[in-house]
Amino acid sequence: MTDTVLDRFLRYVQIDTQSDPTSPTQPSTEKQKTLSRLLVSELLAIGFADAEMDSNGYVYATVPANTDKDVPVICFCSHVDTAPDFSGTGVKPQIIKNYAGGDITLVGDKSRVICVAEHPELNNQIGNDLITTDGTTLLGADDKAGIAEIVTAAEILLKDKSIPHGAIKLLFTPDEEIGRGVDKVDLKKLGARFAYTMDGETAGTIEDETFSADGLEISITGVAMHPGFAKGRMENAIKIAGEIIARLPHDVSPEGTEGRDGFVHPVGVTGSMEKAVISMIVRDFTVAGLHEKEAMVDEIAKAVIANYPGSSYRIAVKEQYRNMKEVLDKNPEIVEFAVEAIRRAGMEPVRGSIRGGTDGSRLSFMGLPTANIFAGGHAFHSPLEWISRQDMEKAVSTIVELARLWEERA
Ligand SMILES: [Zn+2]
Repeated sequence: MTDTVLDRFLRYVQIDTQSDPTSPTQPSTEKQKTLSRLLVSELLAIGFADAEMDSNGYVYATVPANTDKDVPVICFCSHVDTAPDFSGTGVKPQIIKNYAGGDITLVGDKSRVICVAEHPELNNQIGNDLITTDGTTLLGADDKAGIAEIVTAAEILLKDKSIPHGAIKLLFTPDEEIGRGVDKVDLKKLGARFAYTMDGETAGTIEDETFSADGLEISITGVAMHPGFAKGRMENAIKIAGEIIARLPHDVSPEGTEGRDGFVHPVGVTGSMEKAVISMIVRDFTVAGLHEKEAMVDEIAKAVIANYPGSSYRIAVKEQYRNMKEVLDKNPEIVEFAVEAIRRAGMEPVRGSIRGGTDGSRLSFMGLPTANIFAGGHAFHSPLEWISRQDMEKAVSTIVELARLWEERA
């Protein structure tokens, strides 16, 4: 068994660990435990005496402190499952050594091509060793790259006595891709003060922001009657719902926004003549932005309903999750140290925000402030997924430097 970050990565991606949103079991698929069990046996073999998988499929292990300083315990976390969006069965990783540039046609399905035009990040990879799929499955760099990087860095920290560090916790979770990754995590057992998920994309990025999210339901009550005798009196709730949806502005929609702009997005409509319900999700990086968008929807509904004197509407707002920056800003060293570690590992740090939620945002609000660091993968959840060996090695250095920094600054 060899143990470079690339060796580990190639070993892990060949194990099918797809999660299943329709499954009620914990973890959602038994096969995720195949990788979790392998990780435990590898960790024990390296010398992590306390490595174990619990009954919920979570893997825990500790790199003991090798310093007398009182260093906060930090955790590195990634997820074992791959996305349900594309097959993860029979992954055949392809290695392109010393990438010369240009489009990459995948050998198992020639219709699948990783084009430089669509993946401009390839331009920064000339001379690197790339790993792709054969085109018939996803790769699973999301997030087996993160696992390979954490295990490789942990082995360095365990064995290289010249790097002083506090206690470092490793955490590998199931079911992240179906939103259940931290449902059964035992934070008490983990015993960490701060954490980093290794689950971002481009080398050098550190993400400390996610959307804040609300769900919104508009219930419309119309005026129902026999259609044969309805002239001048019927008010069809289905049509009222349609008018409200039609008035939602394009520049506040998912298809009309990017970067730091939030949106309102209808995700479901049910209706009869008498009653219709529109379900929407609202996203923004600030709570004030969420409230602004909710007020806008209310104005639109009010304006539409004004033309239907017999009808009425009600809006119910439900909080879904909040921007993890609210928590991370209270402990700014989490991100500061990550930025410095990325620099020491030889990259120019890039701060990013995530147009969605992550396990890090949930962990942050559960009491474990967690930022997200790059793992190096690209084109997640698709057969065009790719990563370079060199970027994985940079992630390993970043983890080692971070461990060193927390000790240095303690
Ligand atoms: Zn991921």
